[in-house]
Amino acid sequence: MIQTEVLIIGCGIAGATTALRLARNPQRRITIITREPDPHESNTRYAQGGIVGHGIDDSVDSLVADIVTAGAGATSPQAARILAEEGPPLLREVLMETARIDFDRDSRGELEWGQEAAHSHRRILHVGDETGKAIIHGLIAALRRCPNVTIQANATAVDLITFPHHSRDPLAAYRPVTCHGAYIFNRDEHTVHRYLAAATVLASGGLGRIYRNTTNPPGARGDGLAMAHRAGARIANVEYVQFHPTALAVPGAEGFLISEAVRGEGGVLLTPDGRAFMADYSPEWKDLAPRDVVARAIHHQMETHGHSYVLLDIASRMSADAIRARFPNIHATCLNVGIDITREPIPVVPAAHYFCGGVSVDEWGRSSIANLHAVGEVSCTGLHGANRLASTSLLEGLVWGNRAAQHIEDALSQTTPPDIPSFEEVPPWDESGLVADADPALIQGDMQTIQNIMWHYVGLVRSADRLSRAIRELRHLWNEIETFYRTTRLSDGLIGLRNAVEIALIVAQSARHNRHSRGCHYRTDSVSIEGDRLI
Ligand SMILES: Cc1cc2nc3c(=O)[nH]c(=O)nc-3n(C[C@H](O)[C@H](O)[C@H](O)COP(=O)(O)OP(=O)(O)OC[C@H]3O[C@@H](n4cnc5c(N)ncnc54)[C@H](O)[C@@H]3O)c2cc1C
Repeated sequence: MIQTEVLIIGCGIAGATTALRLARNPQRRITIITREPDPHESNTRYAQGGIVGHGIDDSVDSLVADIVTAGAGATSPQAARILAEEGPPLLREVLMETARIDFDRDSRGELEWGQEAAHSHRRILHVGDETGKAIIHGLIAALRRCPNVTIQANATAVDLITFPHHSRDPLAAYRPVTCHGAYIFNRDEHTVHRYLAAATVLASGGLGRIYRNTTNPPGARGDGLAMAHRAGARIANVEYVQFHPTALAVPGAEGFLISEAVRGEGGVLLTPDGRAFMADYSPEWKDLAPRDVVARAIHHQMETHGHSYVLLDIASRMSADAIRARFPNIHATCLNVGIDITREPIPVVPAAHYFCGGVSVDEWGRSSIANLHAVGEVSCTGLHGANRLASTSLLEGLVWGNRAAQHIEDALSQTTPPDIPSFEEVPPWDESGLVADADPALIQGDMQTIQNIMWHYVGLVRSADRLSRAIRELRHLWNEIETFYRTTRLSDGLIGLRNAVEIALIVAQSARHNRHSRGCHYRTDSVSIEGDRLI
């Protein structure tokens, strides 16, 4: 049992930034938890390309315009402006000054601004091709310098504690739904504890792992979205799952991202028998067509011809030395699994990459449940609309982490002592009568079934038939897994499986409901807005 003023679930860039900002008040007690044994492990850790800043000759208006264009008509202009105005100064203050991150510089010692697809200016700061690793190491080190922040690893949030749902007071039913913390599973002890808090922040990241092919690490299984959904929070834009065209398709390193910069440097996509195919899909842009176009072209080639991958050739476009200098991490990782990218093409497949939707929040990260904020990839600020602009998600975590913390600080400073329920008011977790341990084969088998359903029927190319089939199969699986969950002792894998099937169903249902192709939601049976009776 723990009582804390602020409970933050997740310590990627969004959760870590929230904690750092709150920690400025030495009176605040902040607990940040992660289900990982190592707090550095998260999607943030794997970000390659970089983070948006304010490049030379850049302007707030031009960044807003680029974000809005990429968002395919569904981006909130207000959210884009907040990011463009507040992001670059925060990047300097939090990442460069507080977290002491050394972004790459040119030979004159000036910051080296990179270019990425759909950006009108060179404005991306990076640390080699491992920007996320540098960021998360800097942030965790900064958190460890804060005496009022406790980082707890190996702690999996199971469910949010909300009143009236978990209240012992029958009169709580007449008050607004309010979050008071979470039930947390201690993975070392196999016990569930009540963490009670005056404010709770969901910073639990995305859901790429519900797809068979993904660039996301195993922890991205949508736990936070599922918890918020069960608690009754409003969620939005769930059908907008962004797919990256090129993830490595070699056993032992599946899903490792092959950056878009490889095509930027001249890399060409080929069928397994060596035929360049992008001109068939985008005569104008060929291999540098927008991300969703390239991903769908690869998918079409694979589906039509039964290929299990396509090839990306950089070896015949750049010298070996230039490849090693420009892509050191990609080169080393591929070499590790037997592919020398300086001599041979790289087998790649599209992969689920980023979740544009999430827990619906306002400009301060407030969800529809009182005392519950959501920040980072688990949230939907409206910034990404139907399609995220490259390198904006790290910055979104930074900006909304900072904003949520400011809002929480304002609220807490008005109530002393902070309003935290007592342990008598919240029932303990009840596992009485459960003796069977979860069978890992069932967990793995069910997870793979979910990933296959999502990949084939709720993937890059969708239709009413595919989505309806997915929903039928996922509903059946949901029933099975719910029974499994109710009759088995808790484990981290079981928690993840239950969440995965729940959010897979939500994504599939949202995708079927939205009959209009937009951004990364593409339907073969799309109807025009005017003709769509649902709108
Ligand atoms: C390969 C790759 C490359 C990318 N490249 C870029 C890039 O160049 N630029 C860019 O802007 N974005 C990039 N992104 C996207 C970006 O990395 C993420 O969107 C961002 O890091 C998300 O940050 P976050 O703090 O919201 O979540 P995360 O960093 O994923 O952190 C989530 C945290 O929640 C914890 N957690 C999850 N569930 C639970 C639970 N049940 N209980 C307790 N803790 C839990 C996790 O352990 C983790 O600590 C990339 C993503 C990937 C996968």
